[in-house]
Amino acid sequence: MACPICSKPSVPAYRPFCSKRCADVDLAKWLRGDYVIPGAPLEDLPGDADAKNAPPRDDFRD
Ligand SMILES: [Zn+2]
Repeated sequence: MACPICSKPSVPAYRPFCSKRCADVDLAKWLRGDYVIPGAPLEDLPGDADAKNAPPRDDFRD
């Protein structure tokens, strides 16, 4: 099976991806629904502290 991100052969540990990097890229796409800024810290941790401070976003669209 080929990595859906870069089309290289997938690795069992990260399948269907070829590496953790590609898995993270795909996860970021799912979370953001769009392009992710390179080098941005991973701050999408579970918890409502951020949700209370963050402005409303259009995450509920289809
Ligand atoms: Zn890949």
